[in-house]
Amino acid sequence: MRAQRLSRPAPIDSKPLLLAEIDPPHPGARDVRLRIHACGLCHTDLHIVEGDLRLPKLPITPGHQIVGVVDKAGSDVTRFKVGDRLGVPWLYSTCGKCEYCTSGRENLCDNARFTGYHVQGGYAEHMIVSEDFAYPIPGQFSDIQAAPLLCAGVIGYRALRMSGIRPGQRLGLYGFGASAHIALQIARHQGCEIYVFTRSKEHQELAAELGAAWTGKAEDRAPHPVDSSVIFAPAGQLVPHALRALRKGGTVALAGIHMSPLPEMEYALLYEERTLRSVANSTRDDVREMLELAAEIPIRTDVETFLLEGTNEALRRLKKSEIRGSGVVILNTP
Ligand SMILES: [Zn+2]
Ligand SMILES: [Zn+2]
Repeated sequence: MRAQRLSRPAPIDSKPLLLAEIDPPHPGARDVRLRIHACGLCHTDLHIVEGDLRLPKLPITPGHQIVGVVDKAGSDVTRFKVGDRLGVPWLYSTCGKCEYCTSGRENLCDNARFTGYHVQGGYAEHMIVSEDFAYPIPGQFSDIQAAPLLCAGVIGYRALRMSGIRPGQRLGLYGFGASAHIALQIARHQGCEIYVFTRSKEHQELAAELGAAWTGKAEDRAPHPVDSSVIFAPAGQLVPHALRALRKGGTVALAGIHMSPLPEMEYALLYEERTLRSVANSTRDDVREMLELAAEIPIRTDVETFLLEGTNEALRRLKKSEIRGSGVVILNTP
């Protein structure tokens, strides 16, 4: 099978992913093998490819917003059969035993493994996954529309929950990539008024089309303070801006796995019981709830597609904020 492989992290401009021909993986007893149809791009892929994160396994095929069809099932698989269409997100496995797993916080599992990071991911023609960590995709979404739901959507959903935003309140979103364009639709569905802070004119336009009440830059003053906000852009300098725009008692949630250093700031920005918190990974319930909600709303994902051989270029464009909505690599198109 063909797979994009990273052997040595390097700046994306130097095209660190190499297209290789390798043997397809064989499923264990409780695994299914997917013939991959689509894999969505995520900023985390960029942080992996460029070496911003410590890499536990090399060579690695990144990619963790995977939609595919079961083409082989292990002998003990009971939940799925050959031909089922499934999604695979970032959370690949948990230990089920640690204090986090046993208290409903498996996203923080001490021994979690992540797709396209500890194990081979989706920029390839096949992958294997345990039946316990794969999810049926609602029928109304095409493969390429569904892929961005699996991380951008799931993290957007969890970040909204962690921000404490309630129906009808005012929400700020900083950065307007794949995750934010889905989070905006969820928050709108809950009757929130949404202010989008982003430098990109194109992203401001997309936000306005999707129903943002106001768009501007992080330094700009929005018409009202917000009750909660989520920072999706991996830029620490946004934090003081977001705290300045926040009401007393509000929360700023940081959705990224990696962020540039936070600048020194006045305590007054945080005082009056404002909360600053990060969001890490997601639980299986987050994925299930998100997919259900996405089908109910229904969420519309704006997608730009790339071929497997164009993955380096796709990630380069993601880094430059040149993708409108979500980027998706397509493979094995039926
Ligand atoms: Zn991701
Ligand atoms: Zn655990």
